[in-house]
Amino acid sequence: MSSSDAWQWDLVVVGASFAGAACALAARRGGLRVCVIERKRDPGLKLHTTGILVKEAAERTLLSEIPAVLVHRVERVQLYAPSLRRLSLQAPDYYFLTTDTPNVMRWLTERMRQAGVEVRLMQSFTDAAPVSSASGAGWRVDGLGRTRWLVGADGAKSRVAMRAGLGHVRDFLYGIEYEFAGARLREPDALHCFISKRYAPGYIGWAAQNPTGVQFGLAFRHRPMRTGLPDIDGLLAEVGEGLGLHGGLRPSATRAGLIPCGGAVAPLSAPGVILTGDAAGIVSPVTAGGIHSAWRHGWAVGEAVAAHVGGRGPPPERAAIQAAPHFRSKRLLRWAFDRFQMDWPFDLLLHSAPLRWAAEQVYFHRRGNRPG
Ligand SMILES: Cc1cc2nc3c(=O)[nH]c(=O)nc-3n(C[C@H](O)[C@H](O)[C@H](O)COP(=O)(O)OP(=O)(O)OC[C@H]3O[C@@H](n4cnc5c(N)ncnc54)[C@H](O)[C@@H]3O)c2cc1C
Repeated sequence: MSSSDAWQWDLVVVGASFAGAACALAARRGGLRVCVIERKRDPGLKLHTTGILVKEAAERTLLSEIPAVLVHRVERVQLYAPSLRRLSLQAPDYYFLTTDTPNVMRWLTERMRQAGVEVRLMQSFTDAAPVSSASGAGWRVDGLGRTRWLVGADGAKSRVAMRAGLGHVRDFLYGIEYEFAGARLREPDALHCFISKRYAPGYIGWAAQNPTGVQFGLAFRHRPMRTGLPDIDGLLAEVGEGLGLHGGLRPSATRAGLIPCGGAVAPLSAPGVILTGDAAGIVSPVTAGGIHSAWRHGWAVGEAVAAHVGGRGPPPERAAIQAAPHFRSKRLLRWAFDRFQMDWPFDLLLHSAPLRWAAEQVYFHRRGNRPG
């Protein structure tokens, strides 16, 4: 518990997605009074993630407790060159989980409430100001009161970062995704990835089976001067039939959003306030996978706040910086891909040993192996 009643909350977290939930749950385990505010009325609405979990997140975090009915196991990757020649990749014991993401988000909110976290939906963070009391410095959050610690887990365009004068994300991918409820891929056990400078400059297109249907999307490097949206319909027209998505199929929903791709922001914290997850830029610059890193960092921040309040740890502002991944080699790869991406090497070298090796590094984190 807080050392002083001057504080209504030990910790206020803005955002009830992966980073915010992890932070709140870890802090609550340490006995803190935690409030999470989320601007959506339903955490399962207006999603901007495909929701694919890497094996590490699915096994080594609390996400391992997601009910089985909300996940679908994918054991291989089908990588398509721009010519649509394809390469099958898999690694022993490695897999991804696609998810019924709306219900995973609702499950997370329920888990927080069961743990004793106060979750306030339909409450937007608007502003906050530093305050101090006899027991130390903290923040007054508009509409919420005084908190010893404020954590911004409010995504790539973080308002907490802006109001607290912290670093903000400058480099983005932009991703857009169609959902086809009830649809089924011809090969539902594979994550299908399309390399194409024409449709997805700076990233890839993808298709994945989830427990309730199919997700089909693509992302490209966001440039302030670039006009227009990614041509998701063009890519779908080119590859849909091969995947088993027949012409005439209409998307039941669309997800879209910015994905940080430039590494962690600086400064990531200031006295009493910390950024985590996308708000902190903690997303792999190459794979654009952010759920596992958001979860890990959010959890580390929550634990650090609890340890510090309990007199057992360093200031959490410092711990948050130490826990942030550097992504050094991935930032270098991102730099190179942004400048030198070409289609022909993928067409020519798709089945070569170096390209297979590189793809296995990216997808399976060095556990690659030729399928039998
Ligand atoms: C199209 C797309 C597909 C992706 N697919 C994957 C994938 O398959 N696997 C993967 O690992 N990563 C994926 N990512 C990246 C991943 O989704 C993010 O890195 C991850 O969701 C980050 O979690 P977060 O909690 O930091 O932020 P977010 O998930 O962005 O959540 C921020 C939360 O804060 C709330 N919020 C924002 N502002 C306020 C405010 N002012 N007041 C109150 N609440 C606020 C929002 O409503 C939201 O709930 C994808 C991203 C995109 C855009």
